Amino acid sequence: NQRVVGIVGAGPAGLTLGNLLLEAGIPCVVLERGTREYIETRPRAGVIEHRAVQMLADHGLAGRLLQEADRHGACEFRVNGEAHEVDYSSLYEGQTHYVYPQQEVVKDLLSNYLARGGDIRFSVTDVELHGIDTPEPALTWTSSDGRRERLECSFLGGADGFHGVSRRSIPPGAVQEFTYQHGIEWLSILAEAPPSTHKVIYALHPDGFAGHMLRSSTVSRYYLQVPTDDTVDNWPDDRVWAELHKRLALRDSDWKLTEGRIIEKRILDMRSHVVEPMCYGRLYLLGDAAHIITPVGAKGMNLALHDAEVLADALISYHRTGDESGLRSYSEVCLRRVWRAQEFSQWMVFMIHRSPEPFLSRLGQARLEHLIASGASAGYFAQNYVGP
Ligand code: FAD
Repeated sequence: NQRVVGIVGAGPAGLTLGNLLLEAGIPCVVLERGTREYIETRPRAGVIEHRAVQMLADHGLAGRLLQEADRHGACEFRVNGEAHEVDYSSLYEGQTHYVYPQQEVVKDLLSNYLARGGDIRFSVTDVELHGIDTPEPALTWTSSDGRRERLECSFLGGADGFHGVSRRSIPPGAVQEFTYQHGIEWLSILAEAPPSTHKVIYALHPDGFAGHMLRSSTVSRYYLQVPTDDTVDNWPDDRVWAELHKRLALRDSDWKLTEGRIIEKRILDMRSHVVEPMCYGRLYLLGDAAHIITPVGAKGMNLALHDAEVLADALISYHRTGDESGLRSYSEVCLRRVWRAQEFSQWMVFMIHRSPEPFLSRLGQARLEHLIASGASAGYFAQNYVGP
């Protein structure tokens, strides 16, 4: 039996890796805990960097995205009811974001994977990784009909998110984990409401941050900074809309927030987490399994796609020529981008939230004023925001 690349998790990272491997003729199997319907309807990210879109397009994976996604090159900071637009596209080589919901990315990746003859097992449970520090790793799992199955692998891709089994299968102490709690919580809201804006809004209000993000012509995402021990139960829909109206209000303007049916509410704990190195033996972690970042700079899915691209290139080189250099440098190459994104995300977190510590609060305010007033600061923001 030929050994295959075993991939745990069918999110953006796992499915991109699977697609790129199949394109190069390298067999793989994807194991997914959820059903097909679950992964195709799980709303999360929605902002994709131009570089990630280019990578997907280069591999024939961006057909529908390029037709349907909106392109955005400006965002707005609302401070005390006053709007300040930052045209980041003109500040960084005309590059733009693509606004396209994550579940649509996953749908496209899955349909391409299946069209390429890909093998994916849905609704698996009790996935276990074996022999990860040997040349003959394996995966075992219980299939949807209750049978225990085993797959002999050449390499393992751990793409099963932050709570998955892959990272936990690495022996304690074999990798270093960096965790940072930013001490900030957001209520994340998804509503069937057309966008009330054509650019992302970051609003700073004395009661806390509010955000209006774009997803599609019929669905929008909003964020409200809430006290750190808050729960969703404290936020009935009426209170959510009242708070969004208040924090997003514009002075001397007839701008209005359009309401809609709220379809998701969840508390997001602003935290960062990075695993170093992103591999152990023949297990390579990618995406959220290897690093978590706050949603502030919209980087999580973009990093996941980048990891998949770097790992696929490394595995393809190894399979074609036996060259192990890409596998050896995988973690270093990915971590360089991960830490840069973490630094930018931390820079933004600090700028758009008011700290309970008055001195730090003033520093954040000074950072934002500098961004609005200074071309150099706006240039730094633009380059990092739209993606280097
Ligand atoms: P996931 O998408 O988490 O996929 C992991 C898969 O593994 C899942 O399908 C899961 O079911 C499966 N799995 C888990 N455990 C197992 C197991 N034991 N066995 C088998 N399968 C398993 N990022 C951006 O770039 N831009 C944004 O605008 C943005 N906004 C966000 C907004 C919100 C509210 C949230 C929560 C996140 C946002 N992100 C954003 C982050 C982004 O969604 C994640 O970084 C991205 O999903 C990571 O992809 P992944 O493939 O690594 O992991």
